[in-house]
Amino acid sequence: MKIICIGRNYADHAKEMNADVPKQPMFFMKPDTALLKGDNDFYYPDFSEDVHYECELVIRISKVGKNIDEKFASKYYDQLGLGIDFTARDLQASCKEKGHPWEIAKAFDNSAILSADLIDVKDVNLQSLNFSLKKNGELVQRGSSSDMIFNVNQLISHISKFITLKTGDLIYTGTPSGVGSINIGDKLTGYIEDRQMFEINVR
Ligand code: MG
Repeated sequence: MKIICIGRNYADHAKEMNADVPKQPMFFMKPDTALLKGDNDFYYPDFSEDVHYECELVIRISKVGKNIDEKFASKYYDQLGLGIDFTARDLQASCKEKGHPWEIAKAFDNSAILSADLIDVKDVNLQSLNFSLKKNGELVQRGSSSDMIFNVNQLISHISKFITLKTGDLIYTGTPSGVGSINIGDKLTGYIEDRQMFEINVR
């Protein structure tokens, strides 16, 4: 199983990061050891002083595919969940500045939160699906799949030009604006529409 994460898929987040809106999808990967599924505690890593949450819709691949045409892409996934792409923003800034790879900032253990429950794609309108994140009960991120720069089918088509997708692979589809720091003691609660998907305590 592999985890593929999309960068800058919402214009408002690209803007808050002072980054350009991409002309084609950008992605990076996390190893399977990054996955933290369900309402488990997240332990603040000792190598960073500025870990950020990025709440994202997560698509689960249901069929092996390579060079998938956009018009057939919807046949390659049947479930979605809600996740957090935890990012060591201080390490990421340093990697970006030096032009280094940024795995230490993005791919560390437990950096990919995923809700225990997944939702059948057929039960939602994936073209316009709302999701949100609360930190200690306060709304910090709110997004809609309708604001994605590249929709899920376009993402799958693009990724599969380069990398074969397999059953169980996860695609983190990018974060809307409102990313921010976490601290030990915080509680992060994620929602798809009105349904609570996860509750994570930072230890
Ligand atoms: Mg992200």
